[in-house]
This record gives sequence, structure tokens and C-alpha cells, in this order.
Amino acid sequence: MFEKILIANRGEIALRVHRACKEMGIHTVAIHSEADRNAMHVRLADESVCVGPASAAKSYLNIPAIITAAKITGADAIHPGYGFLSENAKFAEIVEKSGITFIGPRPEHIRMMGDKITAKEAIQTAGVPVVPGSNGGVPTLEAARSDAKRIGYPVLIKATAGGGGRGMKVARSPEEIDLAFSSARSEAKAAFGNEAVYMEKYLEKPRHIEIQVVADSHGNVIHLGERDCSLQRRHQKVFEEAPSPVIDAEARAAIGKTVTNAIKKLGYLGVGTIEFLYENGEFYFIEMNTRLQVEHPVTEMITGVDLVQEQIRIAAGMKLSLTQKEVTISGHAIECRINAENPETFVPSPGLIQEFHAPGGLGVRLDSAAYAGYRVPPHYDSLIGKLIVHAPTRPEALARLRRALDETVVSGVETTLPLHRRLASNADIAKGAYDIHWLEKFLGTKI
Ligand code: ADP
Repeated sequence: MFEKILIANRGEIALRVHRACKEMGIHTVAIHSEADRNAMHVRLADESVCVGPASAAKSYLNIPAIITAAKITGADAIHPGYGFLSENAKFAEIVEKSGITFIGPRPEHIRMMGDKITAKEAIQTAGVPVVPGSNGGVPTLEAARSDAKRIGYPVLIKATAGGGGRGMKVARSPEEIDLAFSSARSEAKAAFGNEAVYMEKYLEKPRHIEIQVVADSHGNVIHLGERDCSLQRRHQKVFEEAPSPVIDAEARAAIGKTVTNAIKKLGYLGVGTIEFLYENGEFYFIEMNTRLQVEHPVTEMITGVDLVQEQIRIAAGMKLSLTQKEVTISGHAIECRINAENPETFVPSPGLIQEFHAPGGLGVRLDSAAYAGYRVPPHYDSLIGKLIVHAPTRPEALARLRRALDETVVSGVETTLPLHRRLASNADIAKGAYDIHWLEKFLGTKI
């Protein structure tokens, strides 16, 4: 087992990884930018190294500085968290070439899944159903027109290098295809430096359902059920739950089997998430994330599996701590992403947190690196915490969520807590009756 792990991240996820390490008796090294000197992940880690100025490009994305930090502190492994360098195949390669273990999948799988077209091809070949769409990329406007005609409107044009919901445009009729194609390409170029796009049938009322997989280097692959992440704003998840209110044990076992078979065929290593759109009882693959997800705690709450500890064990060459038969799904978990943002306009609200009171009690978990007196920097994403509740049933989980949200106090910056209070007491949410467009419609209506 590793003696010392460098955590190449910040905020709540750096703390999450630190906690897993401490419980395994592993020393931790935090890295930080100049803006994060007083951050909680720096205070709690056993050692810390400043890797650059506030700008993420010069600090949390600064590969030479991070490798040097690992070398001078004698870390034997690096955990990338999510975001930043977590899906950068080159970084994983450089880490391994430096004689340090990368806690994550092999570089070839990060690369394969980082390109949405190769990802879709690979996963389809491995027996997983995908959203109907173009055969590979859509290089020209002529190709876009003919593909859209063949697939049938409405269609969605998506960036091959996509992420974070950017570079996606819908065309509902032939009149809209020219603009959708050119604007998706220019948005993709601006966001990812790569203008390549592909096309999918635009599904009108799907849910976003994703399957958590875990694979070790001994050929063992398991799935830990699904998460329902249909509540999204601008294709970004806001509120997640597990299990999904629309998936029963039989459907879970069937998709779980399809997915674990595919993961075995691909020879994938580590934790990963296969994302699907789910409509009329059918699953359609959209992408695979080769890292820990923001919403991983809901799976941890219903299965009791510590996903970060599994990642560390797998990277150290150990076997999974449980078999598929030993996976049990118990109760219901919900996560709310608390962002330092205006709850109506979603404009970021960096600044000094004056009061901070965390909720508690049975089945309540708060993953956050914030505290009273902490200054939320303007340089990074605005997530300041995740509130996760767990209860025996979905109605009890919602009641617990309302109670926990009422206890939570954050003042000094604006947060999305008021939005979560509205969601937790909404009738459609109570019924589980929502799809990926529900939240945008809800936000368009006043209380
Ligand atoms: P990103 O990598 O940018 O997150 P994804 O492919 O994972 O992109 O899609 C993000 C979200 O966009 C999905 O959860 C869903 O809400 C929406 N979306 C993606 N593909 C489709 C589609 N074919 N039809 C309808 N909505 C889609």
C-alpha cells in the first residue's frame, strides 16, 4: 500500500480524498495555488506545496510543478480528484513515467473515452446501446444536412471533445441546421480548441441515468447500481439521487450486466461512470467518465462502499473489497450541489463566508471545504459543498433533506440553498416525475 499520496486538487474533493487516505493510514500532500493558502484542504493535509499563482492554468493544471511537488515530498501516488487533470491522459502518462502511481484508469482508456466519437464506437462494439446518430464525426455542413435527414429531426450537434455541457446545439428542422452546425463548431473551438462535432438524435423526454462501475487489475468488475441526475441546468447536474425512482431491480440487474460485460471487454481499470439517457424503458449511452464523479456520495450512501478507498486499493494492485453478489442497495440517497451563486440568475458570488453552520443528525453528510471566515475565491468553480442525505425510503430521504436544508446556514455569499429548498418540497420531485428538461422549465416559472 502507498505511504504518501499527493492530492492534485482543491476544495471539497481534495478533502474527500484526504479523508479516505487518513482512514487507510496514508500520509497526504496537498497542492495549492497562492489564492488557496488558507484553504481547508491545505490545513488538514500532512504536508502542502504551493504550485503556482491563482490562475488554474498556472497551478492546478501545472503538470511540471505538480510532478516536482510529488518528487520533493516523496509521494508514491497521485490522486487527481475530478476536473482539472483527472481526465488528462498525458498527465497520467507523465505521472507513471516519473515512477509515481496515477490513481485512475490507464491512459489509453482516458484517451478513448475523452473523445466522444471513439468512446461511442468502443462502447457500442462492446455491446452497449448508444443514442442513434452520425457515423463518427460530421465534418461539413453538407454532411450535417444529410445526417440530420437520415436520423430525423430534432437532432443535437455535440462537440467531440465536449464536457460540462458546452458545444451542444439543437436543430428542430432543416431551417435550423446551418446555424446549429456553425455555432456548435465555434463554441467547441472556443471551449476545447477543437471544432470537431458529431450528431445525435435529440431525445425529447429522457432521464439522465448513470451506472457506477469499479474494476480491478485481477479481472474483477462490479457495478454499484445507478444514479439519477436528470435535474440539470444547462446540461449541468444540480440535484442527484440513487436509486433512480424509475429503475427497478430487474432493469438495474440487466443494464448492470451489459455494462460490466463491456467494461471487462475493454480491459478498463479503476472507477468509472457510464452515462445514459433513458427514455421509454430503453438505455442509450452518451458518454463515459473515467474518474470519480461529483455525485459519487449518493452511491456510497446506498451501498456502503467507499469509492475513493476502492480507487486507492485498485491502484495499489489489490482486489476489489467486494464481489457483485455482496453489493446491496439499501435505502435512498439524495445530493444537492451547493454553489456560491445567485439562486435565480446563477451569477457566481465569490467573497467572504461570514456564518457557516453545517446540518447534522442521522443520515446527513456534508462534503465541504468551506467554513466561517473562508473567502470563496473567484478563480475556480463555485461549488462550496454537497449536502447528501440517506434514509430508508425516498419520501423519508426528502423529509430529511428538507430538515437538513433548514438547518444549513451560509451567509456573506449568495448560495443555491434557496433553490434546493424549493426542489425538496416540490410535488413533481416528490412523485419522481421529472426528465432532463424539467428543471429549466421550473426555473422559467416564478414561485
Ligand atoms: P457533457 O460531456 O458536456 O456533459 P453529455 O454527452 O454527457 O455532455 O451530455 C450532457 C447532458 O446533455 C445530458 O445529461 C443530457 O441532459 C443532454 N444531452 C446529451 N445528449 C443528448 C441527446 N442526444 N438528447 C437530449 N439531450 C441530450
